[in-house]
Amino acid sequence: MFGIREFLLNMLIIILEIFAYQIFWADRIKQIQTATIKKNQYILFGLSVVSIALCITFPVSFTDGFRYDLRHIPLLIATLYGGNLVGLYLTLFMLVFRKLLGGEGFVNTLIVYSIFTLLVMLVRPLYFKLNLRCKMLLSSVLIAAMCLVPLWLIRYLIIDPYLKHSSTYLALSFTVVSILTGCLSIYLVERLIESVQMRMEIQQAEKMNMLGQLTASIAHEIRNPMTASRGFMQLLKESALDDKERGYAEIAITEIDRAQEIITEYLSFAKPEMEETERINLSQHIKNVISIISGYAAYHNVGLSVNLDKAVIEGNSGKLTQCLVNLIKNAVEACTGQGTVEIAVYTEGENAVITIKDNGVGMGEEQIRRLGTPFYSTKEKGTGLGLMVCYRIIAMMEGKIRVSSQKGKGTRFTITFPAKKEES
Ligand code: ADP
Ligand code: MG
Repeated sequence: MFGIREFLLNMLIIILEIFAYQIFWADRIKQIQTATIKKNQYILFGLSVVSIALCITFPVSFTDGFRYDLRHIPLLIATLYGGNLVGLYLTLFMLVFRKLLGGEGFVNTLIVYSIFTLLVMLVRPLYFKLNLRCKMLLSSVLIAAMCLVPLWLIRYLIIDPYLKHSSTYLALSFTVVSILTGCLSIYLVERLIESVQMRMEIQQAEKMNMLGQLTASIAHEIRNPMTASRGFMQLLKESALDDKERGYAEIAITEIDRAQEIITEYLSFAKPEMEETERINLSQHIKNVISIISGYAAYHNVGLSVNLDKAVIEGNSGKLTQCLVNLIKNAVEACTGQGTVEIAVYTEGENAVITIKDNGVGMGEEQIRRLGTPFYSTKEKGTGLGLMVCYRIIAMMEGKIRVSSQKGKGTRFTITFPAKKEES
């Protein structure tokens, strides 16, 4: 009859498989690469073979010529997480093993498990779009169907008085335990994946941090000799030279300026502390920013229009200038030839909002996703550091930035800061 001990043994086998997977694979990987993913499939297949074989060998019950065991759980997990090929080979292995073991019911096994594996393969693409709870729910439905439908069919197809009595209790408890084990396994696997990812992210962050500190100190050291060189270039340019040589000096100076710009932007990323904060009157502040940038916009044939309401925030005014100049410059650069950049300030509830809208080239979804990552630039002379610094500054000032864009139509950056009360 129903054996709790055997069920527990089956459960233990499956959970052991997951832990073995963690010990032999997850704890060892340094980096997720294609090669390790391949290896991961082999390990997953190997472990599942063992646990399926053990589950079949120690079934919970085999009354009525049926073997009740939890082999479908490793099959489910391995197919979902290892891929269709793993699922296919596992099903084949399981069928061969079952055949070798002998006994009645092989045809049933063949039909039920083929359909089950096929169903799992079909829902697999959907499965990975779900959150943990829905993943468990979907798997429970699959497991329940796989446990109950064949039994129910058999009950009504085979007129066997003994079967009619014994099956209900067994089938129900079998289903419940299967679902429990399935959900537990999925939970463990998901947590396992999560912790591997987290570990890698931490490692990555540590690396970046160290790299950041190192390069910041180098960048700082490079600035002084560069300033000296620039000074001498300037002298050279001003002393009597012919036009060609003056042109060379000019180019050298522009290039040094560009290098300086990159270093400055980089440094403000490496240590973006807000040295001091103050109350900033946004509309006044934006007027100052516009006076800085208006020459640049006119040079690019781009009009600036402003619509300024009253709003006050708290932050570092120098950093905010740097950030807004960056954003407006990007907007101007996005407008090839002619265009307008609209800048607006207003308050909305508890927030002060700045919007910068252009009717330039716009961006696709992939581009928007990459914004703010270092050195991502589509411009020939771009540094790809501007937005990274902006994002960081805005985050330091407890603000948020949103981007909406349409390719060919234009882009809108919306920045919100917590608003402060105006002083009367
Ligand atoms: P850079 O301006 O040096 O290229 P940024 O970090 O400021 O670096 O910008 C990164 C990239 O984001 C730009 O190269 C551009 O492709 C895209 N981008 C930023 N702002 C806009 C905008 N307003 N319209 C279209 N593309 C933009
Ligand atoms: Mg820029």
